[in-house]
Amino acid sequence: MPLVVTGTIGIDTVYTPSGHAESVLGGSCTYFAAAASFHGPVRIVAAAGDDLPDEHLGTIRHFPTIDASGLEIRKGSKTFRWGGKYHDNMDRRDTLYTELGVLAEAPPKIPDRFRDSEFVFLANTHPAVQLGMLEAFPHRRLAVADTMDLWINTARAELDKLLARVDGLVLNYDEAELLTGKRNPVAAARHILEMGPSFVVVKKGEHGSLLIHREGLGALPAYPAEQVVDPTGAGDSFAGGMMGFLAAAGAKHPGNGSRRGASFEALLRALAHGTVMASFNIESFSLNRLRALKREELDARYAQFAGMLRIH
Ligand code: AMP
Repeated sequence: MPLVVTGTIGIDTVYTPSGHAESVLGGSCTYFAAAASFHGPVRIVAAAGDDLPDEHLGTIRHFPTIDASGLEIRKGSKTFRWGGKYHDNMDRRDTLYTELGVLAEAPPKIPDRFRDSEFVFLANTHPAVQLGMLEAFPHRRLAVADTMDLWINTARAELDKLLARVDGLVLNYDEAELLTGKRNPVAAARHILEMGPSFVVVKKGEHGSLLIHREGLGALPAYPAEQVVDPTGAGDSFAGGMMGFLAAAGAKHPGNGSRRGASFEALLRALAHGTVMASFNIESFSLNRLRALKREELDARYAQFAGMLRIH
């Protein structure tokens, strides 16, 4: 079933205990789309400036099931830029700078042929843009949003409006606390359910993720990674693996099509797909690992992870 994502295309500079990468391809939309593309087609709606290097465009085009016809390259505009530095345990990072560039301009246009999209992911970007995008997809069956500290601190009113309209929210442990004032992630997520969504996914980095759904409560560990080079994009590739799986499962069972939202069981399986995708992404800087990833490697690690979760 058609999956669409809106978010940022970024030029990132990242410092981790393993090294650093300068002016590499990043952005919430980019990581999401690359991850989701392993499950099926994914449409991008985003804007970048004409300073985006051809090499970065080439990386986006490398993923054959990404439809980049909704990616606007604006003459004279600057691409969104972000710099981050991870602490020694890589669990925390500081934002060094955020240059909004094209994000401060008019939102990207949505190609007419994307209007039939049924699975909608609003990756990290200004909540007003996320809200506008949501309204543009009247056939949506599942709309999920991500957000982060910058928007919680600077665009709270728009974010509250958005939360009242989406089916699900994906966010980090710290962000859940910032949004609700509640330190316990389950209590924070329950508070968010009262604001609108029918489920919340709280990501806790190497400590895994929680699914707080109106139908139940679930928890998954992270994949026990041996090699963590750069955690950037872990959240977006998690969401891409999750939504890509749900859209592909929806395409296999179109009979359930009239219902909005997603069941607890389907979501928990989707979280496992997200977990495995994120575990690959963090093995290298930028999109380098996802670029090299083979379907067989993904399937093998998913089978291994599912095996680890079985308790006799
Ligand atoms: P993640 O590590 O999953 O949070 O994603 C990091 C990516 O998000 C980086 O590649 C950045 O370019 C992008 N990013 C950082 N800050 C923001 C922001 N405030 N809004 C949207 N995207 C952002």
